[in-house]
Amino acid sequence: MFQEIKDAVSTKEAASFYGLKIGRGGMACCPFHNDKHPSMKVDKRFHCFGCGADGDVINFVQQMFNLDAKQAAFKLIDDFRLNIDTKRKESRHEKNQRIRLQKERERKERIRVAYAEELQQFRLKMAEIYRTLHDWELDYEPTKEQWDIGNIDERYICAINNKDPVDCILEILDFGEDSEIYEEYKHREETITSYERKITTAERRAGERSGERASSDRGPERVVGKERQR
Ligand SMILES: [Zn+2]
Repeated sequence: MFQEIKDAVSTKEAASFYGLKIGRGGMACCPFHNDKHPSMKVDKRFHCFGCGADGDVINFVQQMFNLDAKQAAFKLIDDFRLNIDTKRKESRHEKNQRIRLQKERERKERIRVAYAEELQQFRLKMAEIYRTLHDWELDYEPTKEQWDIGNIDERYICAINNKDPVDCILEILDFGEDSEIYEEYKHREETITSYERKITTAERRAGERSGERASSDRGPERVVGKERQR
């Protein structure tokens, strides 16, 4: 049965059927490692020059959908409507199980992708907050005179108090263990809201203090959308 399937469907056909983009010369981005440039050759069989993945069409489907060889064979027969006389038909139970496995896998993949995107948004937001605080620390540093009379800009105080904790969170997001990252991730909304509130409060108080002068002195909003520079 395996040989008949391999004769009927090439890896190239299957790979393309399951959504792989295959370029000239049968080269494709390898689905089994994080491949930026096509390093997998697909033809009758497949071979990846990046990660060394190698095999026939059955192996390909196995790895792609996390199936055992028999399940992969039945999947190919099913998807390509192959008229192959198997000694034993895939039972209803086996078929359901195969489909359930695949759905479960797709669900996990969706969660993983959503998590990665949310995490990236969180990191960008924290970097933006850090950038604001970083700028404030420089822009509103009190002069000696201001120190002496205790006229210290609220934004400077806000920057001094919050820059390090924000930096700490960024440090975890960039270099932390998975469990530490997840701890931060869980509280991302509270974290963002809390720092945003501190920033708006400091801005408002600073505005109240310096009155109309503030609006003409401050340039355009300089914070939003800037990537943080370390
Ligand atoms: Zn590879």
